[in-house]
Amino acid sequence: MIDIKRIKPKTKGESDKYSWNLYRFLHKIISNRDEGKYVKNQLEVHFVHNSWFDSKYLEFDKNKSLNPRQLIILPLGLKNGRSFHSVDSILTRNRSDRFALPNWELTDITDWFFETYERDGRCIFDRSHNGWMLGAKNRFTHVNNTRRCNWCGEWHHKEIKKKVNITRKEVWLPEESIK
Ligand SMILES: [Zn+2]
Repeated sequence: MIDIKRIKPKTKGESDKYSWNLYRFLHKIISNRDEGKYVKNQLEVHFVHNSWFDSKYLEFDKNKSLNPRQLIILPLGLKNGRSFHSVDSILTRNRSDRFALPNWELTDITDWFFETYERDGRCIFDRSHNGWMLGAKNRFTHVNNTRRCNWCGEWHHKEIKKKVNITRKEVWLPEESIK
Protein backbone atom coordinates (compact mmCIF):
# COMPACT_ATOMS: atom_id res chain seq x y z
CA MET A 1 0.00 0.00 0.00
CA ILE A 2 1.20 3.51 -0.74
CA ASP A 3 2.08 6.17 1.78
CA ILE A 4 -1.30 7.85 2.22
CA LYS A 5 0.28 11.28 2.60
CA ARG A 6 0.55 11.16 -1.18
CA ILE A 7 -3.22 11.11 -1.58
CA LYS A 8 -4.04 13.60 1.14
CA PRO A 9 -6.22 16.59 0.15
CA LYS A 10 -4.60 19.98 0.79
CA THR A 11 -7.27 21.32 3.12
CA LYS A 12 -8.50 19.30 6.06
CA GLY A 13 -12.07 18.14 5.58
CA GLU A 14 -12.26 19.08 1.90
CA SER A 15 -11.90 16.95 -1.18
CA ASP A 16 -9.89 18.24 -4.12
CA LYS A 17 -8.05 16.02 -6.55
CA TYR A 18 -8.25 13.44 -3.79
CA SER A 19 -11.22 12.45 -1.70
CA TRP A 20 -11.13 13.59 1.90
CA ASN A 21 -13.39 10.71 2.97
CA LEU A 22 -11.16 8.08 1.42
CA TYR A 23 -8.04 9.61 2.94
CA ARG A 24 -9.66 9.82 6.35
CA PHE A 25 -10.87 6.25 6.16
CA LEU A 26 -7.44 4.88 5.22
CA HIS A 27 -5.79 6.95 7.90
CA LYS A 28 -8.22 5.59 10.47
CA ILE A 29 -7.70 1.93 9.69
CA ILE A 30 -3.91 2.07 9.43
CA SER A 31 -3.58 3.93 12.69
CA ASN A 32 -5.82 1.49 14.55
CA ARG A 33 -3.98 0.31 17.63
CA ASP A 34 -4.57 -3.40 17.32
CA GLU A 35 -4.88 -3.94 13.62
CA GLY A 36 -3.13 -1.02 11.99
CA LYS A 37 0.28 -2.57 11.55
CA TYR A 38 -1.24 -5.54 9.72
CA VAL A 39 -3.50 -3.34 7.62
CA LYS A 40 -0.49 -1.38 6.36
CA ASN A 41 1.00 -4.52 4.83
CA GLN A 42 -2.10 -6.46 3.95
CA LEU A 43 -4.71 -4.01 2.72
CA GLU A 44 -6.12 -4.85 -0.70
CA VAL A 45 -8.44 -3.13 -3.14
CA HIS A 46 -10.59 -5.43 -5.23
CA PHE A 47 -12.85 -5.04 -8.21
CA VAL A 48 -16.13 -6.93 -7.78
CA HIS A 49 -17.23 -8.52 -11.04
CA ASN A 50 -20.79 -9.07 -9.88
CA SER A 51 -22.71 -5.97 -10.87
CA TRP A 52 -24.22 -4.12 -7.89
CA PHE A 53 -27.26 -3.48 -10.07
CA ASP A 54 -28.26 -6.89 -11.41
CA SER A 55 -25.30 -9.08 -10.36
CA LYS A 56 -24.39 -9.83 -14.01
CA TYR A 57 -20.70 -10.29 -14.74
CA LEU A 58 -18.79 -7.05 -15.34
CA GLU A 59 -15.38 -6.90 -16.96
CA PHE A 60 -12.68 -4.83 -15.26
CA ASP A 61 -11.65 -2.18 -17.80
CA LYS A 62 -8.74 0.10 -16.89
CA ASN A 63 -9.75 2.66 -19.49
CA LYS A 64 -13.26 3.22 -18.27
CA SER A 65 -14.48 5.10 -15.25
CA LEU A 66 -14.30 2.94 -12.20
CA ASN A 67 -17.68 2.62 -10.55
CA PRO A 68 -17.06 2.91 -6.79
CA ARG A 69 -19.96 0.53 -6.27
CA GLN A 70 -17.82 -2.23 -7.79
CA LEU A 71 -14.88 -1.46 -5.53
CA ILE A 72 -14.14 -2.82 -2.10
CA ILE A 73 -11.33 -2.47 0.42
CA LEU A 74 -10.22 -5.52 2.37
CA PRO A 75 -8.21 -4.19 5.33
CA LEU A 76 -6.49 -7.49 6.02
CA GLY A 77 -6.45 -8.85 2.50
CA LEU A 78 -8.34 -11.74 1.01
CA LYS A 79 -6.35 -14.52 2.64
CA ASN A 80 -6.30 -13.22 6.18
CA GLY A 81 -9.59 -11.57 6.82
CA ARG A 82 -12.66 -12.02 4.72
CA SER A 83 -14.30 -8.72 5.54
CA PHE A 84 -14.64 -5.63 3.41
CA HIS A 85 -15.69 -1.98 3.22
CA SER A 86 -17.58 -0.54 0.27
CA VAL A 87 -15.63 2.24 -1.46
CA ASP A 88 -18.90 3.82 -2.57
CA SER A 89 -20.09 4.18 1.04
CA ILE A 90 -16.76 5.64 2.06
CA LEU A 91 -16.72 8.18 -0.78
CA THR A 92 -20.30 9.31 -0.89
CA ARG A 93 -21.81 8.63 2.49
CA ASN A 94 -18.68 8.74 4.59
CA ARG A 95 -19.69 5.43 6.14
CA SER A 96 -17.25 2.67 6.71
CA ASP A 97 -19.23 -0.31 7.96
CA ARG A 98 -17.41 -3.58 7.63
CA PHE A 99 -19.16 -6.60 6.19
CA ALA A 100 -18.39 -10.27 5.75
CA LEU A 101 -17.38 -11.03 2.19
CA PRO A 102 -20.02 -12.83 0.10
CA ASN A 103 -19.06 -15.31 -2.55
CA TRP A 104 -18.18 -12.71 -5.19
CA GLU A 105 -15.83 -12.91 -8.13
CA LEU A 106 -12.97 -10.54 -7.41
CA THR A 107 -9.83 -9.16 -9.01
CA ASP A 108 -7.10 -7.72 -6.83
CA ILE A 109 -6.29 -4.28 -8.28
CA THR A 110 -4.44 -2.84 -5.26
CA ASP A 111 -1.25 -1.67 -7.01
CA TRP A 112 -2.99 -0.39 -10.11
CA PHE A 113 -5.57 1.43 -8.04
CA PHE A 114 -3.15 3.34 -5.81
CA GLU A 115 -0.80 4.19 -8.67
CA THR A 116 -3.61 5.46 -10.86
CA TYR A 117 -5.43 7.25 -8.05
CA GLU A 118 -2.25 9.03 -7.03
CA ARG A 119 -1.65 10.13 -10.64
CA ASP A 120 -5.20 11.01 -11.75
CA GLY A 121 -7.06 11.56 -8.49
CA ARG A 122 -10.82 11.28 -8.55
CA CYS A 123 -10.85 11.29 -12.37
CA ILE A 124 -10.42 7.55 -11.94
CA PHE A 125 -14.15 7.54 -11.17
CA ASP A 126 -15.16 10.01 -13.88
CA ARG A 127 -13.16 9.58 -17.09
CA SER A 128 -15.79 11.42 -19.14
CA HIS A 129 -15.35 14.52 -16.97
CA ASN A 130 -19.07 15.11 -16.93
CA GLY A 131 -19.88 13.79 -13.50
CA TRP A 132 -20.84 15.91 -10.56
CA MET A 133 -18.53 15.86 -7.57
CA LEU A 134 -18.19 17.80 -4.37
CA GLY A 135 -15.00 19.83 -4.12
CA ALA A 136 -14.52 20.05 -7.89
CA LYS A 137 -14.69 23.80 -8.34
CA ASN A 138 -11.00 24.09 -9.21
CA ARG A 139 -10.93 21.00 -11.35
CA PHE A 140 -10.55 22.81 -14.69
CA THR A 141 -8.43 25.66 -16.00
CA HIS A 142 -10.16 27.32 -18.95
CA VAL A 143 -8.27 28.84 -21.85
CA ASN A 144 -10.53 30.08 -24.65
CA ASN A 145 -12.20 27.03 -26.13
CA THR A 146 -10.04 24.57 -24.27
CA ARG A 147 -9.77 23.46 -20.72
CA ARG A 148 -7.29 21.41 -18.79
CA CYS A 149 -8.24 19.01 -16.02
CA ASN A 150 -6.03 19.93 -13.07
CA TRP A 151 -6.39 16.47 -11.57
CA CYS A 152 -5.43 14.09 -14.38
CA GLY A 153 -3.93 16.62 -16.81
CA GLU A 154 -6.26 15.86 -19.71
CA TRP A 155 -7.09 18.61 -22.22
CA HIS A 156 -10.56 19.09 -23.69
CA HIS A 157 -11.90 21.40 -26.33
CA LYS A 158 -15.36 22.76 -26.56
CA GLU A 159 -17.61 21.93 -29.45
CA ILE A 160 -21.05 23.30 -29.99
CA LYS A 161 -23.33 20.49 -31.08
CA LYS A 162 -26.60 21.17 -32.81
CA LYS A 163 -29.55 19.51 -31.22
CA VAL A 164 -32.49 18.67 -33.43
CA ASN A 165 -35.77 17.90 -31.79
CA ILE A 166 -38.37 15.91 -33.61
CA THR A 167 -41.78 16.62 -32.25
CA ARG A 168 -45.00 14.91 -33.23
CA LYS A 169 -48.23 16.78 -33.44
CA GLU A 170 -51.70 15.49 -34.11
CA VAL A 171 -53.51 17.17 -37.02
CA TRP A 172 -57.09 16.56 -38.15
CA LEU A 173 -57.77 16.86 -41.88
CA PRO A 174 -61.03 16.83 -43.77
CA GLU A 175 -61.93 13.44 -45.15
CA GLU A 176 -61.50 13.80 -48.92
CA SER A 177 -63.21 10.54 -49.77
CA ILE A 178 -66.54 11.49 -48.21
CA LYS A 179 -68.05 13.66 -50.92
ZN1 LIG B 1 -9.30 14.65 -15.20
